[in-house]
Amino acid sequence: MKLAVIPGDGIGKEVIPAAMSVLDRFNLDIEKTYLEVGYGRWERTGLAITDDDINTIKECDCVLFGAITTPNDPNYRSVLVRLRRELDLYANIRPFAPLPNVTLPCYNNKHFDFIIVRENTEGMYSGIEEIHADTAYTTRVITRKGSERIAGRACRIAAAQSSRLTIVHKANVMKSCSFFRDICIEVAKKNNISYSEMLVDAMAYDLVLHPERYEVIVTTNLFGDILSDLSAALVGGLGLCPSANIGERYALFEPVHGSAPDIAGKGIANPVAAILSVKMMLEWAGWNKEARSLRNAVDEVLKSGKTTPDLGGSCTTKEVARAVETLI
Ligand code: ATP
Repeated sequence: MKLAVIPGDGIGKEVIPAAMSVLDRFNLDIEKTYLEVGYGRWERTGLAITDDDINTIKECDCVLFGAITTPNDPNYRSVLVRLRRELDLYANIRPFAPLPNVTLPCYNNKHFDFIIVRENTEGMYSGIEEIHADTAYTTRVITRKGSERIAGRACRIAAAQSSRLTIVHKANVMKSCSFFRDICIEVAKKNNISYSEMLVDAMAYDLVLHPERYEVIVTTNLFGDILSDLSAALVGGLGLCPSANIGERYALFEPVHGSAPDIAGKGIANPVAAILSVKMMLEWAGWNKEARSLRNAVDEVLKSGKTTPDLGGSCTTKEVARAVETLI
């Protein structure tokens, strides 16, 4: 397998090397290409990512991505949004379940385990925008192709784990949402997946109170973005949440958190989200035994209390990664 590694900015430069040192323990046949991409590069050269970088990435099978600082500058274009488009990574997949020994800031203590499958290339993030003197427009694009393929991906996940599908939308207000909802229902029926639907506002409320009710959630780009951050809070923090961006040809794996400038350079960022992103990459590549072993090692380290300060521990990023490595 060919892997492009993009640590990026801030704590990306700390958690990705930590996750890579864990991956290296498996001695798998992986050819790695490191790329300097991101805000730091933009400050130095005026370009956060070049066409050559994109070509190099397209010669790889997948990407392990840290985090990139997005400056408040209208000339700056998001690297991640470009990568998602260029590689056609239409499905953003984020699993959420409590990890051992992590205190849940949740109203109920029932076990939960759900996956958000978010459409990643259109919706409110279509990039079709206009600003005039008194009015600004953002065009929300929902296509049949985009909706069918994200619904199809969610149904495949639901079928693989015999789960129920929840279609999240705001069809009572937006016609583009009725369009999305109807296509998701068509696809669920065709695949014999049991489904229900929820309005996104009700979903936000219910996810906080009853996360145990949900298994696979499929939704549009902006709603998925917001519900994912809400869900990160449910599991105890951004430092714990991995994600996968999947297309037909390529995939990109990244922790849900950003570059965290407030703690960058201190060596205390939690590497668990990045390490669990590597676990998702191993599963995607078919290295399931290694993925299970990695997950068990992370669980054991969390149980042992070897954690970074965000979880109440006093370990460094490197110490947590080393503890995981020794269990592999
Ligand atoms: P960006 O602008 O890159 O999105 P941000 O600071 O706005 O950065 P995050 O990086 O997601 O957003 O961080 C939000 C908060 O969560 C910060 O206080 C940060 O320190 C904390 N945080 C995020 N990731 C981690 C991590 N891996 N370990 C510990 N704390 C984290």
